[in-house]
Amino acid sequence: CGIVGYIGKRDSKDILIEGLKKLEYRGYDSAGIAVFTDHGLEIRKSKGRLAVLEDKLRDEPIEGSVGIGHTRWATHGKPSDVNSHPHTDNSHKFSVVHNGIVENYLDLKEELAEKGHRFLSETDTEVISHLIADEYDGDIVKAVQRAVKRMRGAFALGVLTEYESDRLVAVRFASPLIIGIGEGENFIGSDIPAILEHTRNVYILNDGEMAVLRRGSVELMTTDGEIISKEIFHVDWDL
Ligand code: GLU
Repeated sequence: CGIVGYIGKRDSKDILIEGLKKLEYRGYDSAGIAVFTDHGLEIRKSKGRLAVLEDKLRDEPIEGSVGIGHTRWATHGKPSDVNSHPHTDNSHKFSVVHNGIVENYLDLKEELAEKGHRFLSETDTEVISHLIADEYDGDIVKAVQRAVKRMRGAFALGVLTEYESDRLVAVRFASPLIIGIGEGENFIGSDIPAILEHTRNVYILNDGEMAVLRRGSVELMTTDGEIISKEIFHVDWDL
């Protein structure tokens, strides 16, 4: 339902939580964040309001300057802690937040299960994290491109891998996603309010487009890998 992502120099936790709060008006049943910490990729997520997640984060803090966050409106699998996003794969090296529906997730799940993937949740989204892990051979951008080619349905994705912790990959297909351009930091959001506190310069992704964010750059391309350029959209309204 709501997506926020951050790559920069500041601690990401509050940026993610505050961004998700700006998207609360859309409604949700669970919330979570994934952050690269000194101990690797760590995820905190829970059913319920953002306040429940904030309590969990007080008990089990995480700190790091790259992260993704999500508020979920369940479509596949009941609202629960395990079904909340971000999802990961068995190696725990990949993490995904997702808005939308992967229509062919059962076929993909069956195929991946035969290859040895073990699933914890009932969601279509968990299948995406396993699929990207399965496609990965050292380049997260290519892995995501191959994975989305196999997916049917609607999706906006934020993807992280511990193997390339200086990149945040975002993809849009039939579910909105925008990129916020900062100085030495960049953002993703499912809607402008999520990032407006930090920047007014955004790229609005179209279907079949993706972005590779680093701290100091944003590269735009199609899911076929063709580099594209886009006008920066300047947001001139306030919340
Ligand atoms: N289909 C996904 C799920 O049920 C994403 C739902 C959403 O857009 O929040 O977990």
